[in-house]
Amino acid sequence: MDRDAFIAQLWPEDPTLAEIRQRSEAAGLPSIAVPPLVGRLLTLLVRAVGARAVLEVGTLGGYSAVCLARGLAPGGRVVTIEREARHAAVAEETFRRAGLADRIELRRGDALEVLAQLRRENARFDLLFLDADKERYPTYLEALVGLARPGALLVADNAFWHDRVLDPTATDPATEGLRRFHTALARHPQLFSLLLPVGDGLALAVVRGAAP
Ligand code: SAH
Ligand code: MG
Repeated sequence: MDRDAFIAQLWPEDPTLAEIRQRSEAAGLPSIAVPPLVGRLLTLLVRAVGARAVLEVGTLGGYSAVCLARGLAPGGRVVTIEREARHAAVAEETFRRAGLADRIELRRGDALEVLAQLRRENARFDLLFLDADKERYPTYLEALVGLARPGALLVADNAFWHDRVLDPTATDPATEGLRRFHTALARHPQLFSLLLPVGDGLALAVVRGAAP
């Protein structure tokens, strides 16, 4: 038995999440939602932070957004960003079925534009989960730091990108984007960070100091 199987027997994916995954895949969306173990970790992190305002970049069918929403403090909200209309439609249905439509706000559009719009609205978040196009992770990093409350937690998925990040012969834009993201994370004066070898890898960073 491997580590993930050992964990899965104690904390199996619950039926609601299993149904969300199946419905999303049946609708033709790619099978790239976070695995159950990472979903559970997202819920746990939102709870540990006591987050009331959570931001997600990259919704897909809404699996991880539901995991994030499950950890919210009373009165808390998740804002999630998705540019593909087909994905957004599946996600809206996911949120309705899960009874979370009032706690999750889906913003349709390109992430950079929506992040700039949130900045104009003076929005601030306690936990920020990045899971969109990997080549732009370094650009998203600065935008997310600008939207983070002091002490906020940044979380980024696919940190190892199927281990391509570890392979020096892999030089595609997504892999290079992730490498630049990790270097920026490690050197950022406002961040205390680390990569966790869980799922496809999670980057974690705590934001220090006051948001500008
Ligand atoms: N977080 C989801 C999986 C997200 S997959 C989960 O674990 O359940 C990545 C998603 O990001 C896809 O739905 C893709 O359409 C979206 N995406 C990619 N680039 C984007 C961009 N520039 N702006 C907004 N959404 C984007
Ligand atoms: Mg992912």
